Amino acid sequence: MARQFFVGGNFKMNPASRKDKVALVKLLNEAELDPNTEVVISPPALYLIPVKGSIRKDIKVAAQNCYFKDSGAFTGEISPAQLVDSEIPYVILGHSERRTLFHESSEVVAQKTRAALDKGLNIILCIGETLNEREAGETAKVCEEQLKAVVDVLKESDWSKIVVAYEPVWAIGTGKVATPQQAQEAHKDIRSYLSKAVSSGVAESTRIIYGGSVNAGNCKELSTLPDVDGFLVGDGSNHDLRDLVVVGCS
Ligand code: PEP
Repeated sequence: MARQFFVGGNFKMNPASRKDKVALVKLLNEAELDPNTEVVISPPALYLIPVKGSIRKDIKVAAQNCYFKDSGAFTGEISPAQLVDSEIPYVILGHSERRTLFHESSEVVAQKTRAALDKGLNIILCIGETLNEREAGETAKVCEEQLKAVVDVLKESDWSKIVVAYEPVWAIGTGKVATPQQAQEAHKDIRSYLSKAVSSGVAESTRIIYGGSVNAGNCKELSTLPDVDGFLVGDGSNHDLRDLVVVGCS
């Protein structure tokens, strides 16, 4: 089964002003995008509703995080129910910055994934190893452990709403992109794990995208790898997202 190519833009805590946000939306609205690529942009929570209201309809919008409760005394959090009520279709969960800076365990990521799915959201689920873990030969083990927490709380049918983002921590925001060989090996191992832990059908149909210092200049070769189904772009999403979709991945 052909997997639709996917390009996500994680703006992180950028842009710093409403003016820059408007300029970014304008740039994307005027771009000629590949109609065969699913494009999802993820602005900061404060900008989700205005971006959703002003971005072209063939670009979807994602939150960068959500909590696992519907409502209540959880200061600073956003619930899956609120995202659905605001017509935001996607949420990024398990980003390494959340895991590291905000101490989110794989179990919490799994709880959030379950809650988001229960409300009907699509998930970009991030996993990936640190440099120490890679150097210790533990890349596959770490990815499996992070995925297993989610596998344990999902039904087979839930996987149609999940995009797995393999994002080696050492490549995020560092300018050090994984080599094609490193990316293909990790993606293939993740697919094999899904086949073993869920089903061969889920392994075959689930999109596994790569994130970590991707830009318009280095995406071309990565995009041709058999198990790489797209990208999650962080810093590059302010200037390169349009090129990634138009040039790099068409
Ligand atoms: C990310 O934050 O998901 C990411 C891939 O960042 P960058 O492209 O900046 O490495």
